Amino acid sequence: MQENIVLESTITCPHCGFQKEETMPVDACQYFYACTNCKITIKPKHGDCCVYCSYGTVKCPPIQMNKSCCA
Ligand SMILES: [Zn+2]
Repeated sequence: MQENIVLESTITCPHCGFQKEETMPVDACQYFYACTNCKITIKPKHGDCCVYCSYGTVKCPPIQMNKSCCA
């Protein structure tokens, strides 16, 4: 019963502005993300469940499915 879940998200590093398209895991949230350009470790903003919700172009799959994420 999968709807139109988007798994590709372009993540923008808040530190250096580098953008990279990543494939999100369907059933897990990614809390840490290491920027491939500046090597800094990105964490979600306060209130967001994962780095894709904070810095990606697309919210993470659990949010897209209206499920509570990592709670
Ligand atoms: Zn960066």
